[in-house]
Amino acid sequence: MKKSQTCKHCGEYFTPNRRGVQKYCSNSCRSLAWRKAKTKPKENTLAGVVGKEPEKEQAEIPSNPKDKISFAGIANATIGSGIASIVDTLLTPEENKPATKKDIQALQASLIKRYLPIRNLAPNAKGQNAYYDFEVKVVVYR
Ligand SMILES: [Zn+2]
Repeated sequence: MKKSQTCKHCGEYFTPNRRGVQKYCSNSCRSLAWRKAKTKPKENTLAGVVGKEPEKEQAEIPSNPKDKISFAGIANATIGSGIASIVDTLLTPEENKPATKKDIQALQASLIKRYLPIRNLAPNAKGQNAYYDFEVKVVVYR
């Protein structure tokens, strides 16, 4: 009578053909166990590869360290500021944009006009509207 053994993969009892050599009940358990055993170190290997990548870069840099670093820095700064200004343009409403030459010209034109209507002041008792007089720098009703 052959002595039974437990499969190292599924834990089932089985009768080995050659005692001491066979660790699994079947070929499928043997291959599954082998794959499982291979999967674990593979994860470690993958992590190892990821961990090793910066090392590889660092190893390449000393051949020409300053050029690479400064070029990367300039490229990043250029791309960064370019994107920043584009984003700024997209997100800033027209009226909140910094004064352009055109805006300043418009403001100068209104200054020449002397009286700037003040919208948040109600007309006075005479029905005159409030204006800011640029010349004497006071609110006037006209
Ligand atoms: Zn098995």
